Amino acid sequence: MAKHTGNDKLKKHAVYVYSEEQLGYKFSETHPFNQKRLILTTDLLRKMNALSDQDIVIPRIATDDELLLAHDPRYVDIVKKASKGLMTSSQTESFGIGTEDTPIFPNMHEASARLVGGTLTAVDYVMENKALHALNLGGGLHHGFHGRASGFCIYNDSSVAIKYIQQKYKARVLYIDTDAHHGDGVQWSFYEDPDVCTISIHETGRYLFPGTGNVTERGSGLGYGTSFNLPIDAFTEDESFLDLYMTAFREIATHFKPDVIITQNGADAHYLDPLTHLYGTMKLYQEIPKLAHQLAHEFCDGKWIAVGGGGYDIWRVVPRAWSLLWMEMNDMELPQGKLPKEWLDQWQKDSPVQLIPTWMDPENLYEPIPRKEEITEKNKQVLDKALYHIRPHYEKE
Ligand SMILES: [Zn+2]
Ligand SMILES: [Zn+2]
Repeated sequence: MAKHTGNDKLKKHAVYVYSEEQLGYKFSETHPFNQKRLILTTDLLRKMNALSDQDIVIPRIATDDELLLAHDPRYVDIVKKASKGLMTSSQTESFGIGTEDTPIFPNMHEASARLVGGTLTAVDYVMENKALHALNLGGGLHHGFHGRASGFCIYNDSSVAIKYIQQKYKARVLYIDTDAHHGDGVQWSFYEDPDVCTISIHETGRYLFPGTGNVTERGSGLGYGTSFNLPIDAFTEDESFLDLYMTAFREIATHFKPDVIITQNGADAHYLDPLTHLYGTMKLYQEIPKLAHQLAHEFCDGKWIAVGGGGYDIWRVVPRAWSLLWMEMNDMELPQGKLPKEWLDQWQKDSPVQLIPTWMDPENLYEPIPRKEEITEKNKQVLDKALYHIRPHYEKE
């Protein structure tokens, strides 16, 4: 079935927002948030002949006015001063920076504003009909709050982008976050807004940062019912994750009827990710973008903006996962078999771990989980609870 017809041919299919300057968002040599994954992914795509110079768009830097759409001016001011080395950690800690998770680094304001600008660049391409889909892997900093940094995130590119879409394009946005951590920053930005729907599927906050994302967080005031949370159990595998994701995404999109979809594509729900306890495989990253793509065409004339996010096994997991995302955005047939030999040869020598040479993970990636059934059943209950108020049996008072 052809997904794209008519006018679609006049515009670009998808654009890849990227420049090596995005690597300037760097806390330290040893910090787990490592944008080298952008180089690894971009190189993998190039070696697959899946990405050419014509696909790439240089990200702009977000202006102060744009940052202030979702951030407190006092906070932006603190980040700017810290950026220039004018603040000590004790002065900035109450703003979430200069902490162990989110240390101060030189030019952190510019580097963070560039990641936001990348997502705004992606937004303009899609909303001005210059491309059907746009990807900014440098974005997805979903823990950034209105007045403080959190969890490696300084400015929240998705929150700024959604406010920007509302103001400039008057569109209804559905934001879906498949990062293993709760998409808290974006959720709280729009908690009372009925015109923005946020969905987050994540490892339960019982043992994992940031601890929120309970199924009962549904929005408040006029925004009640437009915030959805699917907290899943540690050790959740592909099948159960995808069951919840697919059912929730389709039912919520049908209910909410968005004009544009933003997906946050953190790649840290994988078994090999060192920071989380989910048992996903590459199958997740093959399937997640497929449904987003389908629903974007079904509900939004294709309007789909995708951003990156977490992902801390930068060698074995993120390059494959994010390459699959870009290939899906371009309607390319998803690859099977081996990764390009040139890519493996080039990067194996830098990698501290043995690279996985195939697109899909080996069958014996992990030992079978004894509690599989129990976890699947528990997750299913979460799904039913999360969707209860939009299902037909529910009667409004
Ligand atoms: Zn994460
Ligand atoms: Zn498409």
